Amino acid sequence: MDYSEAKHRIEELKAVLLENSRRYYVENAPTMSDYEYDSLMHELEALETQFPELVTEDSPARRVGSDLESGFRKYPHKYPMLSLGNTYSIEEVEEFADRVTKSLDKPFTYSVELKYDGTAICLTYRNGVLFRALTRGDGVKGDDVTANVRRIANIPHSLKGTGWPEEFEIRGEILMPYESFDRLNEERELAEEPLFANPRNAASGSLKLQNPEEVGRRGLFCVLYHIPVGQVQYPTHNEALNAAAEWGLPVGDKRQICSSIEEIEAFIGKWDSERKSLPYATDGIVIKVNELAYQAELGYTAKSPRWAVAYKYKAEQACTPVLSIDYQVGRTGAVTPVANLEPVFLSGTMVKRATLVNEDQIRALDLHEGDWVYVEKGGEIIPKITGVEESKREPGAKVPEFPSVCPDCGTPLVRVEGEAKWFCPNRKGCPTQIKGRLEHFVTRKAMNILCGEATIEQLYSLGLAKVPSDLYRLREMDLVRLDGWKEKSASRFVQSVKESLSVPFERVLFAIGIRFVGETTARDIARHFGSIDAVMAASRDELLEVPEVGDVIADSIIAFFADEDNIREVNALRDAGLRMSADVKEAASNALEGKTIVISGTFSISRDDMKALIEANGGKNGSSVSSKTTYLLAGEKPGPEKVKKAQDLGVEIIDEASFMEMLPGRVGSPESSASPTPPTASGSGPLPLTRPRVARDSGEPTLPGNDDGVLFEPTLF
Ligand code: NAD
Repeated sequence: MDYSEAKHRIEELKAVLLENSRRYYVENAPTMSDYEYDSLMHELEALETQFPELVTEDSPARRVGSDLESGFRKYPHKYPMLSLGNTYSIEEVEEFADRVTKSLDKPFTYSVELKYDGTAICLTYRNGVLFRALTRGDGVKGDDVTANVRRIANIPHSLKGTGWPEEFEIRGEILMPYESFDRLNEERELAEEPLFANPRNAASGSLKLQNPEEVGRRGLFCVLYHIPVGQVQYPTHNEALNAAAEWGLPVGDKRQICSSIEEIEAFIGKWDSERKSLPYATDGIVIKVNELAYQAELGYTAKSPRWAVAYKYKAEQACTPVLSIDYQVGRTGAVTPVANLEPVFLSGTMVKRATLVNEDQIRALDLHEGDWVYVEKGGEIIPKITGVEESKREPGAKVPEFPSVCPDCGTPLVRVEGEAKWFCPNRKGCPTQIKGRLEHFVTRKAMNILCGEATIEQLYSLGLAKVPSDLYRLREMDLVRLDGWKEKSASRFVQSVKESLSVPFERVLFAIGIRFVGETTARDIARHFGSIDAVMAASRDELLEVPEVGDVIADSIIAFFADEDNIREVNALRDAGLRMSADVKEAASNALEGKTIVISGTFSISRDDMKALIEANGGKNGSSVSSKTTYLLAGEKPGPEKVKKAQDLGVEIIDEASFMEMLPGRVGSPESSASPTPPTASGSGPLPLTRPRVARDSGEPTLPGNDDGVLFEPTLF
């Protein structure tokens, strides 16, 4: 591969990995198997090794995936919370053992343990009492989920025994047992809520609820497996964990001290089958150097410890015949082939359908009608067909014919160069696409209008809603005349449409459904430009200045606003009263007099407005962290160098909510990071962001992971 091919492939891999990382960590709804994700990550790592000049700080190969969410206070981790190097091959475990043996060049042992498949947690105990619980976040800072963790039954609020340090951190995993997972999904099915794909997603989603009582009902439990070096005075990891168990902490007991690779391999082999009878999910084995001094000696890469590796078990497979193939049209017009299978039991559930991805995939598999296929549920998500059992093929079986017209509206399908999917080009007339865009517009993360699929179907089929602005014209008296509507439901619907008028601009930008502009990208663009007019007026180069906006997204935004129907619809939404710009309310005061503040990362308001806010309140903006800095104000994805420097110099790191608390009349609430209009001092008026563009400080690396980057967002209008 030459330089320019590598550059292109690296960009592609980064976009796909960032998008899937967000789906996995933030939405808890992955659409790719772990094996596939890890293969793409390994490909990126290999290319970056081959072309070091193409490595960027924001590469997912150099950062842990972020689970940070607005709505939680953020606190920095005392020690970075990293990932683990992983492999699916025993040979690579052997290579790890060789590397460590050579590096240490003295006798040592391994602690070999189960890899629990949940969501990571960091508990701090102060004076023997649970003080704080943080998620891994972006590795540098985590979301404060202490109130929720206090409801998890096996996590002690106070320690027993003696000998615990005055303050220490211990890390582990929050898990949901299969039984609780099944019960939760049954309840959700009855309530017509979307189901969790696997216990990991359910655990992670539950831990981020804003309702501790509900968390308590979800049956979560904790397994602890790591005390960062320097916290406790024991020579080995194993002894430190044994002591923690004596203090009443729920330490993982399925671990073994090994001295040779043979013993490690035997442990891996034993648990490959035995783990299937455990009441909770595990996805591999973790192999760690046991001696704490040697762990310190081996140290860390930017992303993972050099003294540990994870061996991951490959997903389970089953073989079953294909009964038929459906061709589904998505919101973007993309046509996806889906196989209907003879039901088969796999990783705890019955699988009846599996995606065939696109026409190329059908050809690559050499799939024929009625073939027996291998199905995998990698990471236990959407099942995928990974191979065909040719020996079972019926003689004369035909190759399935991909449709040439849209299965919904009959328009001939097109395939754009460079795209793997066939598309229905009838964006403005294909019912599935029109309804899909309306469904996207009303979702909770967009305009949050109380309106399900069936309502959209009804409104669309009666000609009452074709574009989102139509929803703002519906009146209670029109709705009560329709089938199935009562006064109460009509009034609830109209009220929620009205409430959507206060949805912040960044979500409006997401809701209008520019292709490839997902939730986080919309937020970044909104914060960068401040208003829809500024986004519309932006040139391609100006769009490319926004972090995570690459060629594909920039082109898509330009194309979107070049379409007059889209402009008309944006104007109709503006006339309906939707927020088309971000507002900042300022309060002048002396609250920050004498304080020098360095800001890093992104905030609920633009960086320029944050700086203006600091100055308006008497503070000084510093450009780099030094001993003169009073605070490092860390937003989302702060620069790791700035964070490290602040930690080294003992400069206090504060988050946006704590900062807002310092200003008169402002309430520092976790929500403040979700809302672009923090509460303001009385008497101060709104300061609309009228300038066309907001300058961006691009001088520092940021942590990736919590970002959209790309893919499969619907196009509106
Ligand atoms: P990981 O899950 O591969 O391994 C690291 C984590 O294992 C640690 O952070 C810790 O939380 C956990 N762990 C469990 N038992 C442990 C033990 N005994 N000792 C130490 N740690 C233990 O890494 P990750 O960074 O959490 O996630 C990255 C992985 O997530 C990827 O390799 C991929 O498989 C998956 N992922 C999948 C998708 C997708 O779309 N399917 C997207 C993003 C990430």
